[in-house]
Amino acid sequence: MRIADLYSRRSEQNTHGRAVISFEFFPPKTDAGFRALFHTIEDLKQLDPGFVSVTMGAGGSTRGKTVDLVIRIQRELGITTMAHLPCVGFRRDDIRDILRQLEAGGVDNVLALGGDPPKDAVNFERPADGFTYASELTEFIRSESELSIGGACYPEVHPRASSAEEDLRNLVTKVEAGANFLITQLFFDNAKYFGFVDRARAAGIDLPIVPGIMPIATAAGVRRMLDLGGGELPPELDAELAEVASDDEATRQLGVRWATMQCRELLEHGVPGIHFYTLNKSPSTREIFENLSER
Ligand code: FAD
Repeated sequence: MRIADLYSRRSEQNTHGRAVISFEFFPPKTDAGFRALFHTIEDLKQLDPGFVSVTMGAGGSTRGKTVDLVIRIQRELGITTMAHLPCVGFRRDDIRDILRQLEAGGVDNVLALGGDPPKDAVNFERPADGFTYASELTEFIRSESELSIGGACYPEVHPRASSAEEDLRNLVTKVEAGANFLITQLFFDNAKYFGFVDRARAAGIDLPIVPGIMPIATAAGVRRMLDLGGGELPPELDAELAEVASDDEATRQLGVRWATMQCRELLEHGVPGIHFYTLNKSPSTREIFENLSER
């Protein structure tokens, strides 16, 4: 199933109103981790996701695992899947191979990403025939396949962009290159998302812009992710996190409460979907759904 069609065919039959719910996972390092992840996905399947996605480490570190996982989830669990695909470290032929493997495995969707150069790389250079920007990768995928293509976007501006205006111009280029839908970097202040959607619409982008929501698991983890991908904690959440920092369960509960509040407002505004950064765990996401169904 093409994800672009899921967003355009949102119907009353969907158990989450008109929103397409999706879950993001990363490939575990060990076999035991794989088995545990399958249980997590089976558990979350009961929440009727429109699709699930699997990240791919920049530089291709998880290439085989990501491709195997999306194909297996789709075949064995019957859920539509999407493989993440970063530019970093891949040659054109590598990308072509991956696209062929996905197509042969029945996967219809790919998230075309820039990726980040490896942390320890001093003068990182892309392979001679590789891609630098997600828009170039998107154009290539579009020319090579019929896959439905997602792209990333940043309500609080990508950290390497020189300005919000430049970031938005680059996003327009990515859309023109053939992206079918956009998923946001995680954010904790819905006003930032709503403002970004307004700016994107004014710039002529009319694709679904799907909010990415992460239930906070640990204070250190969320700060690290915001450092890498950009964005800030609202002062109120920052203060509450500091108060519970030494208590893992209290931190998790705060994460569930905050994400529930965000989701409730986003759904009321008729967002096309919600993409959950699950961190490969199901309890927090499950609790958010239970909270939402209580309203
Ligand atoms: P791009 O669209 O290429 O943008 C990167 C930067 O370059 C931006 O500042 C942009 O403004 C600028 N730019 C774009 N085009 C041009 C141009 N033509 N000229 C000059 N500047 C330009 N990373 C992974 O490695 N693996 C994953 O699985 C993964 N999954 C993700 C999922 C989501 C939903 C999101 C939001 C991010 C994910 N990332 C992942 C992180 C992402 O790869 C990084 O944030 C990366 O730094 C940027 O990716 P991008 O696709 O936005 O890149």
